[in-house]
Amino acid sequence: MRGTARIRGRGALLLVAAGWMVSAPGSSHAQEKTAQQVDSQGAGGPQAASQKSDTQVGTGPSAPGKHKAALPEKTHRFWDKENDWLFAGVGASRTLDYFSTLNMRRRGRQEIFLTNEAVDNHAAFAAIEASATVVSIGAAYLFHRYGHHKLERWTSIVHMGLTATGSVRNYCLKTAHFAQAPGPP
Ligand SMILES: [Zn+2]
Repeated sequence: MRGTARIRGRGALLLVAAGWMVSAPGSSHAQEKTAQQVDSQGAGGPQAASQKSDTQVGTGPSAPGKHKAALPEKTHRFWDKENDWLFAGVGASRTLDYFSTLNMRRRGRQEIFLTNEAVDNHAAFAAIEASATVVSIGAAYLFHRYGHHKLERWTSIVHMGLTATGSVRNYCLKTAHFAQAPGPP
């Protein structure tokens, strides 16, 4: 009982947070609405007219994606500020992985997820890292497309976390010393 209540509370909190994130860029939209309300109430008085023109001036240059704001209120643009940052983070973590893996290889360690040949061909390895970023963004887009906006964000967050952890692990691995070749004692 208490558990579900807590989960529900957290869900509500997330909803509030999501609502805040959605409403931040859409505040001009809300303003427009109130202007319309005032317009219908005041039967087009001078005050309402000035307020209306005010919002038109306000929304004109600042929102290039304004046409898409006609979507239902809970959705957001896919390339919103949060996703921009998340995808940049995924790309950065992938770059870190690229360099940390090469660093590890230089120190004589074996790559465990890919073949050594793929990693040692730097152009191919860079392409693999880039495509991992693209696949991650594609997965986030699919989640976004089907309305799973929380999963959409988590795709990037989890990807970033795992990749960064792997990179740190790469750097932390001890340099292999070939002098101590394994053999019977
Ligand atoms: Zn979304």
